[in-house]
Amino acid sequence: MKLRAGVRDRLSTVRFVTDDESHIEVNQEVAKATGAAAILVAVCPAKVYSIRPDGSVGCEFAACLECGTCLAVAPEGSLTWHYPRGGFGVEYRQG
Ligand code: SF4
Repeated sequence: MKLRAGVRDRLSTVRFVTDDESHIEVNQEVAKATGAAAILVAVCPAKVYSIRPDGSVGCEFAACLECGTCLAVAPEGSLTWHYPRGGFGVEYRQG
């Protein structure tokens, strides 16, 4: 009987084509005023976001899985998100 791979194993098959341009922008002023940092860190499955020592939000956009969760829950005005340019971003493989 073949066992299904765990999430970590399945994510290891994901391929990224990294763009120089970020598809995610954090409005640091709004993020600070709304407490967005803790929300973004908590919801992102790829650990794209971090809280820097100065309290600002770090964003490692290249690791984004393009799930859209952060955009759905971010306080209004704290985040600008769009899909990466054509040919860039995450590439999922089936099987
Ligand atoms: S779209 Fe998903 S993976 Fe990408 S930064 Fe937002 S929550 Fe993380």
